[in-house]
Amino acid sequence: MAIEKKISDELHLLAARRLRAAGMRYSKSRRAIVEVLASAGRPLTLDEVLAFNSDDNLAQSSVYRNSTELVDAGVVKCLASGKDHNRFELDDSIIGHHHHFVCLDCGEIEDFQVPEYFEKEILRLEAELVKKGLSVEGHTLDIQGRCPKCSKKIVGNFVS
Ligand SMILES: [Zn+2]
Ligand SMILES: [Zn+2]
Repeated sequence: MAIEKKISDELHLLAARRLRAAGMRYSKSRRAIVEVLASAGRPLTLDEVLAFNSDDNLAQSSVYRNSTELVDAGVVKCLASGKDHNRFELDDSIIGHHHHFVCLDCGEIEDFQVPEYFEKEILRLEAELVKKGLSVEGHTLDIQGRCPKCSKKIVGNFVS
C-alpha cells in the first residue's frame, strides 16, 4: 500500500482553517489522523488509522475522540459501510469530489472518480431539481459489490 505519498502543506492549511473556524485547535493528534487518512488513499476504519499511524503517541481513545471532532469540524467525513465499522476519509472539500465502491461482505471502501461528462450530467439533473424548488446539497454514487478478497471467498465456497 502506498502510504508514503507526500502530504501537501495546503491540505494541512485547509484542515487547520476548518478547525479554527469551529473553534478547535489543530493538535498533534488531529494532525496525525489527517496525515494517515491523506496518505492511505482510501477510507479507513479507526482501527486501520491506528495501525497505519507511525507515531506511537496516538492512543486509541485519542483517535476515537479526535476523529469525532474532526467530523464535527468538517475536516473528516464518516462513511457508514454496511456490515462492520464505519470508515473515515478527508472531506470532499479537501480531497475533491469522488465516489465509492463498497464491498457488501467486508465493508471495504475504495474511492473512484467518474468521467467528467457523467458528473456534468448529474449536475444538470441537480439544476433541474433546483428549478423545481428543491434545495440540492450534492450527490453520492456508490457502486456495490465484492472486493477481490471477498469474491475469492465466494468462488472458494462454490468449489468446495
Ligand atoms: Zn470485501
Ligand atoms: Zn472516498
